[in-house]
Amino acid sequence: MEILIAVLSVLAALIIFMIVRAALTKPAAKNETEAVSYGLDKNKIALHLSEAIQIPTVSMADASYPDKPFFDYREYIKNTYPLFFKAAELTVINEYSLVYRIGGADKNLLPACFLAHIDVVPAPAEGWDVPPFSGAVKDGFVYGRGAQDMKCQMIAALESIEYALAKGLPFKRSIYCCFGHDEELSTRDGAPEIVKYFKEKGVEMEYVLDEGGTMLDGKMLGIDGSVALVGTCEKGYMDVRLSCKKDGGHASTPKKPTALASVAKAVYKLEKRQLSPVFTQPTKELFKELAPYMTPIVKFVMVNRDILSPILKIALANLHPISAALVKTTFAPTMAKGSNAANVLPPYAEAVINCRLIAGNSPELVLEHIKKIAGKNIDVEVINEAIPASDISPINTASYAEISKAIRSTFKGVKVAPYMFIAATDSRFYYPVCKNVYRFTPFMMTPDDQKRIHAINERCGIDALESATEFFIRVLENTCL
Ligand SMILES: [Zn+2]
Repeated sequence: MEILIAVLSVLAALIIFMIVRAALTKPAAKNETEAVSYGLDKNKIALHLSEAIQIPTVSMADASYPDKPFFDYREYIKNTYPLFFKAAELTVINEYSLVYRIGGADKNLLPACFLAHIDVVPAPAEGWDVPPFSGAVKDGFVYGRGAQDMKCQMIAALESIEYALAKGLPFKRSIYCCFGHDEELSTRDGAPEIVKYFKEKGVEMEYVLDEGGTMLDGKMLGIDGSVALVGTCEKGYMDVRLSCKKDGGHASTPKKPTALASVAKAVYKLEKRQLSPVFTQPTKELFKELAPYMTPIVKFVMVNRDILSPILKIALANLHPISAALVKTTFAPTMAKGSNAANVLPPYAEAVINCRLIAGNSPELVLEHIKKIAGKNIDVEVINEAIPASDISPINTASYAEISKAIRSTFKGVKVAPYMFIAATDSRFYYPVCKNVYRFTPFMMTPDDQKRIHAINERCGIDALESATEFFIRVLENTCL
């Protein structure tokens, strides 16, 4: 009885501690600059985006894709942003990737770096309301392939620099604009070669700002208003083939287990038995940053995440595909192959699993796990080169603070937090020349808009384009001017 009372007392004390801790967690004071209007001509910016879209810079997956649009695009930048082009020194890497540099007056400051990719995914016209490379401007939007991914961001960044130059504002920090040409292919001819060039020249960056984190409705996290997520790292990537060889033959007399069933069983087991969920540093920082704004119950859980972590990790891993992707390595079966005829047993069957690796789960560890789960009758091999999760960029830096400030000044009331970006960008290659690599797409997008990326009727709102340009001007003001 005494033991029970003692246990209950400890439990009660712990709960009181957790409640008080949650109650005492308040938002930290955040500074933001007073929003000034820059007097931008948003229709002119929209026209520039429209013109950029009209140059069909489709990733050159093979020799059948023309490279002319990439040369046209270079001319387009020259003609559309004359002050930028005049102030910048251009270095062309590997024929198509572009590195522009504007020198700053203070040689002690490391340069800033805006990243974007010139290439876009293909866009067959079927299903589009307007031709995908028309750059049609209608109903407050600019339509076309690349409108979101990511000519909008490149245009906004270039507009901001052109604005600063037109105002005669001197750059104290140098700035690089690095525009790769093969991001959508994940080949290694663009960004990695640019970084190799920087390495050879001994150039290091203060920060890199690329596409990535978005602004979303905070409801999903129990928060009123919008949340802006800045990617401070990204997951790794690995494609793994599971295969099995057995006697083939006529399907009227199958000998169990068949090749296809063996592979299917391995895929099924892998879906059931995954690696343990992990709270990475960015995930912990995300919870810490946003907890003060959450509704009381969610806040209670998040503030006490260390005590509740065993339950919380399992809950997040099962709650929603997005929360699951934030806490664990995901395994997505994407392709499968058996025989070519309905009445023929395949002598060989295979399935491909697309794995997205969370920080802390190395490709070796993930491969080991897959082999263990698949069992000894299944051959397991990595297709292409595995890419480990990127390094994690710190958030206690001046550049993170200034980028966050620019977000808050541009998008009123938005809460800013770091997180682990769950897809892949060119910026993952930049760690050898920069510790502070941040991924943020400064466009307010509805879920409907987001569905259009890499799909039909991709579009960018003209107002959103103006805000994104203002965001980049503020980043320049805060860090370069
Ligand atoms: Zn992109």
